[in-house]
Amino acid sequence: NTALRKTVIAGNWKMNKNRAEAKALIADMVPLVKNASCDVVICVPFTNLETALEATKGTNIKVGAQNCHWAESGAFTAEISAGMLKELGVGYVIIGHSERRQYFGETDVTVNKRVRAALNAGLKVILCVGELLEQREQGITNETVSLQTKIALMGVTEEELKNIIIAYEPVWAIGTGKTATADQANEVNHAIRMVVASLYGKKAGDGITIQYGGSMNAANAAELLGKEDVDGGLIGGASLKAADFAVIVNAAK
Ligand code: PGA
Repeated sequence: NTALRKTVIAGNWKMNKNRAEAKALIADMVPLVKNASCDVVICVPFTNLETALEATKGTNIKVGAQNCHWAESGAFTAEISAGMLKELGVGYVIIGHSERRQYFGETDVTVNKRVRAALNAGLKVILCVGELLEQREQGITNETVSLQTKIALMGVTEEELKNIIIAYEPVWAIGTGKTATADQANEVNHAIRMVVASLYGKKAGDGITIQYGGSMNAANAAELLGKEDVDGGLIGGASLKAADFAVIVNAAK
């Protein structure tokens, strides 16, 4: 990371923790991350949003959701709009996580629609991109993430881009215990930054926060976060343990 951009460590709790467990985890986390020099976000299940907002009041932990719909309201059973999240006081939303793409039919086009809806509602977006193992093996990692990034950003203005964080998450590294090496992460993050620069100019490319995600943990965080183009992390498994999450947060400058 460099001083040009903000470092953001975000936890992605996925479908974990009931309300009581969420309260307890946040209570454990608060004192451990209070001196963080990066931004700290936890993205919790919809059912925990109000609990998390309450439990983080007056702390440096910000709350995010894990998805939102592109419409403001309407006949979209089980979906949640960006405006509904905003009204609760939620600040962030993850869009395009690979689990959404793999299991729930999310495409680059629906990702783009959701990104734009979230920005319109005034949320900050954590936009996820990443290649499958087959794509890496075929040598098309950079092409894959470039295309995902370009489509996701269609119609997004330079001003709106300031509310976007990109998370590079190689699909083969998510929840597998396999981490990209720090050099692999740095290389793809850099390629994504070049895509942003090609679309919005060098200053925008230099300024955008690009996280790495995929089995980042207490043991490997410092090395990953030490890389020039790695501006934080999106943490799944290790964000469910206060002590581990805190080690990662405190490794971020
Ligand atoms: P992981 O998940 O840290 O458990 O690999 C990361 C993510 O899916 O955001």
